[in-house]
Amino acid sequence: MIVDFRKELESIDPRLLSLDRLETLQVNLGNRCNQCCAHCHVQAGPNGEEIMSRKVMEKIIGFLRDRPGLTVDVTGGCPELNPDFKFFISGACEAASHVMVRTNVTVFFEPDMSWVPQWYSEKKVTLMVSLPCYTAENVDGQRGAGAFEKSIAALRLLNDLGYGVNGRLQMNLVYNPGGDFLPGRQDQLEVDYKGELHERYGVRFNRLLTITNAPIGRFKHHLQANGQLDQYQRLLVENFNPNAAGNIMCRTLISIGCDGIAYNCDFNQALDLPIIDPRGRIVSIERLQEALNGGIELVTGDHCFCCTAGAGSSCTGSLVK
Ligand code: SF4
Ligand code: SF4
Repeated sequence: MIVDFRKELESIDPRLLSLDRLETLQVNLGNRCNQCCAHCHVQAGPNGEEIMSRKVMEKIIGFLRDRPGLTVDVTGGCPELNPDFKFFISGACEAASHVMVRTNVTVFFEPDMSWVPQWYSEKKVTLMVSLPCYTAENVDGQRGAGAFEKSIAALRLLNDLGYGVNGRLQMNLVYNPGGDFLPGRQDQLEVDYKGELHERYGVRFNRLLTITNAPIGRFKHHLQANGQLDQYQRLLVENFNPNAAGNIMCRTLISIGCDGIAYNCDFNQALDLPIIDPRGRIVSIERLQEALNGGIELVTGDHCFCCTAGAGSSCTGSLVK
């Protein structure tokens, strides 16, 4: 059985252990969220206190200006709950070629948030909407009572603004399994989601992305509490797919934490595993360009098997057909 993720990548191709080219800068604006989902790997919630400051945002926007052509992938927590969210998105839209925001959309119904959907459409921001199922029972079970109804209301509102109805304003839904199993086939699940959501609620969207639950954060605690952690880790390892390993997202993405520190991905950020340069220093946004010039190595661990199991998993969905 495969036990060492690093060795496994090395045996496929040693180049897989480092960043290939930077295409996407993922930016985590903080861990505050209006929801408190059972499977949240960043353990976000209403009391989240890690909030990116405007000073760090300015440095990131400066980096984007110096490196045109990047995609910015904004995440949280709930990005909209950062007090300087509008400042950052506006700056990113000017400096980057493409901006996407990961949103739970239920935040639109929080106090003083009703302006957000229209503003997104004016900025032509791509939306990545987390919706772990097309049934109320499963969504409310994972995200809290009433989450499904609010999500549907928000998706309809976004459809009315033009999101998800053609290619102009992109709205993709993000699915993650409701327990300790791998996602089904992304293309098949997309057909099911589109059929169910349109038939029952008149909701449309562009693409469905499947993401495998990482055995970290709140989901890890849930597995531990139920005695399922070893079994889940084994499932990930036994389903290691070399083709998915060739496409792991950390070869083209860097994730920036709310204090400006750089990570290979959001999972490494949640585990406090920053990028380290050849001199042993933690890399932050101020020295990211210098680190890119010298080459960036991946920091790996057992959790990495969630990216290579089955069809693979990344922030933009499965990695192989
Ligand atoms: S999974 Fe998303 S919506 Fe749920 S608590 Fe975490 S950040 Fe918030
Ligand atoms: S967990 Fe992060 S570092 Fe590990 S393979 Fe996945 S994207 Fe790469």
